[in-house]
Amino acid sequence: MAEQSPKSRLRLLARRLYRRGWMEGTAGNLSLRLGPDLLITASGCHKGVLTEEDILRIPLDGELPLPSPDAKRRPSAETSIHRTIYRLFPKTGAVLHVHTIEASLASECGGSEILLPPLEVLKGLGVADPETRPALPVFENDNRVPEIARAIGERLPDPRYPLPGLLIRHHGTTVWGETLDEALRHLELLEFSMRFLISKCSLESSKEKRYPERI
Ligand SMILES: [Zn+2]
Repeated sequence: MAEQSPKSRLRLLARRLYRRGWMEGTAGNLSLRLGPDLLITASGCHKGVLTEEDILRIPLDGELPLPSPDAKRRPSAETSIHRTIYRLFPKTGAVLHVHTIEASLASECGGSEILLPPLEVLKGLGVADPETRPALPVFENDNRVPEIARAIGERLPDPRYPLPGLLIRHHGTTVWGETLDEALRHLELLEFSMRFLISKCSLESSKEKRYPERI
């Protein structure tokens, strides 16, 4: 079977994540590093039906070239976040950003960070001992996306945050990896942790309501 082109890999991954309910409508954006450039999903395109024309090539650094007046597509509105992650973590080969209900709810479970439960899956995110309960950074959402990117650049990297991921409050999850496959694994494991976290919070709150005297 012929090897898939990088654009095709991004397109097919977007469709897979759309079907999973993690990129509903036009939500989320994916990028892949190609030498000094990035391939990134275009803004405003439905993630279930992307074509190769919906994946744009842009430089990793420097000014973005101005789109021609008749350009039908522009890079994702969250391109500045992707570029910041590649700059902060130079080994990064792919960045995935999705909007999930679980991540949005989990972002209410903490202030500027969330202490993750000591789950075995954290080993797949590079945490040798999950009992150390690593912190996941949470950034405030902002309509001015470059402000989110600036805040990320100010706080990361930090040894306090060993995971290849972050949350934007009431917005979604961003993960990165050396390859597209690794970034996908990180996304699945972080989303697993978010599902666990919100189920645990909801269980504890229902116990509190039913048995207040035992708490
Ligand atoms: Zn987003």
